[in-house]
Amino acid sequence: MTASSSSPPTAGSALPADLPTGLLIGGEWRAAGSGGTFAVHDPATTDVLAEVSDAGEQDALDALTAADAAFREWRTVAPRDRSELLRSVFEAITARTDEIAAVITAEGGKPLAESRAEVAYAADYVRWFAEQAVRMEGLARRAPAGTHHQLVLRKPVGPALLITPWNFPIAMIARKLAPALAAGCSVVVKPAQLTPLTTALVAEIVRAELAARHLPTGVVNVVPSSSASRISRPLLADPRLRKLSFTGSTEVGASLLKQAADGILRTSMELGGNAPFLVFDDADLDAAVEGAVAAKMRNSGQTCVAANRFLVQEGVAEEFTARLTEAFGRLVVGPGDRPGTTVGPLIQQSAVDRVTEVVQQADDAGAQVRVGGVRSEGRGWFYLPTVLDGVTPDMRVVTEEVFGPVAPVLRFGSEDEGVDLANATPFGLVAYAYTRDVGRVMRLTERIDAGMLGVNRGMVSDASAPFGGVKHSGLGREGGEAGIEEYVDPMYVAL
Ligand code: NAD
Repeated sequence: MTASSSSPPTAGSALPADLPTGLLIGGEWRAAGSGGTFAVHDPATTDVLAEVSDAGEQDALDALTAADAAFREWRTVAPRDRSELLRSVFEAITARTDEIAAVITAEGGKPLAESRAEVAYAADYVRWFAEQAVRMEGLARRAPAGTHHQLVLRKPVGPALLITPWNFPIAMIARKLAPALAAGCSVVVKPAQLTPLTTALVAEIVRAELAARHLPTGVVNVVPSSSASRISRPLLADPRLRKLSFTGSTEVGASLLKQAADGILRTSMELGGNAPFLVFDDADLDAAVEGAVAAKMRNSGQTCVAANRFLVQEGVAEEFTARLTEAFGRLVVGPGDRPGTTVGPLIQQSAVDRVTEVVQQADDAGAQVRVGGVRSEGRGWFYLPTVLDGVTPDMRVVTEEVFGPVAPVLRFGSEDEGVDLANATPFGLVAYAYTRDVGRVMRLTERIDAGMLGVNRGMVSDASAPFGGVKHSGLGREGGEAGIEEYVDPMYVAL
């Protein structure tokens, strides 16, 4: 659909009346240069929620021009002022939790309780980087030969392009935007096409807080688009851009890394996962099942840290699988805004088709469906929580990131065999392990190839800790002390 007016399109009635649906460039909301829009759907009903301005190449370049101009001012703003801006954004996001959560559920489908938890998690990153903004330490010392003194300063890298996925529409932008602003960078955000509304709401909160403090509103620019490459190509080719931070699939990340190479850009890449969930014979099975449901079913299995392969030692395999089957059978599938729902829809029809295909392939190759194994009847993009037993390492449900509510169970004998299975993937984002043996835990820390390890926990992420992966799961870290380093360059001064 195209709109001829120059003002941005408006959101539907289910959304906050003041929800912006345009492009944010230089502190102003406006329509796309072409006047075009694209539709955002509610995955629980498939209805159109809103029409959003569809940015093109020139809009992207306008956003970079605004970001570049604002950067010159923002880099000189006192760290304390940057910190207090972020603190006020944290408070505004927290105060509007229910409103933001409703938008996340409307466009992404997850149950409202999960959306509220995502808002709290995202706000925590904003608060953490508000605290980090005033703790950017450098170095001063005499050179070892005594010939001069050395200062090491830390300077913002410059305007950054932030590209985010649809599965955590506020958390993924918070993990990038907060450290970028804390470090003194300006940004152009390209939100996921499927969930641009939450980003718009958050961007408006940041814009309003900047304006209220008479700070440069052009530090945050947002260009939703139906064609991601229409935004990323011209920006990655423009020498004013100094940084790319991407969260999404490994395939797209690898392609963006190649494009970023021409501009010798700093890059951060948070990519796909294929997390092993190891349950050893000595595990507390109640805790393991509870952790398994949390690690698998959050956002209907559509998380990069979702447990993708349940590797269970033979002594407890049958009991664990039976209890997991029972726990999955108790989950309540439905629209995210319906009270009692614990599992929402998948994001789109193609996601349901893909999950159906990989489960079918496993079934055909001899796996047993213990529960689920089918899409649900009626409207919306739903798939039932599924446990597959008798799975073998070559099945697609194991080799691929499933991104759906499916738990494949594989059995192993020795600890060595379990570790080998866990590492048998090109990915290395997170691993989970349930065991009561501290010696084994220490061996796992040495032998598991992943950026993160959850021990007797189904959730690991925390704003104060470095989040990120190894191998095909990415480069760089978000959160913790490391998160802000992604947006600064050291400058050595000899004097
Ligand atoms: P995706 O790679 O399809 O899209 C991610 C973003 O990149 C979106 O904004 C999309 O519009 C954009 N994009 C797509 N094609 C592009 C192109 N050719 N050029 C430039 N930009 C392009 O991923 P998705 O489906 O939105 O998200 C799911 C993936 O993200 C999964 O693989 C998941 O594991 C990963 N993910 C990783 C993390 C992490 O922190 N490691 C977190 C969340 C999601």
